Amino acid sequence: MSWDLPTAAAPDGGAGSGTVLDGNAAAGEFAGILAGDPTTVTVRCGSCGVAQAFGQLQAYMGGPGTVLRCRECEAMVARVARTPQGVWLDMSGSSSWLFLPAPGRA
Ligand SMILES: [Zn+2]
Repeated sequence: MSWDLPTAAAPDGGAGSGTVLDGNAAAGEFAGILAGDPTTVTVRCGSCGVAQAFGQLQAYMGGPGTVLRCRECEAMVARVARTPQGVWLDMSGSSSWLFLPAPGRA
């Protein structure tokens, strides 16, 4: 499986032409992304670069959080921890997540 993210604008704004707003402006883009079926997501490992289906990741359950590891290199790609403060989502071990369009949406 091969896919790439669209080229992002440079962080310094030098190559980008988009308007910079605060995060509230992006809430609609992010809302609901993780509410769908995660097994349809393709995750690219931040360590070895392999893209794999969410369901192919190795899940380590029962610890203080749930950890997902790359099937190829066993690096941590994501983890979720439920604490009294709330739910922590750490996706730092992955380089990108591809969410397929929901049925009925373009
Ligand atoms: Zn990997």
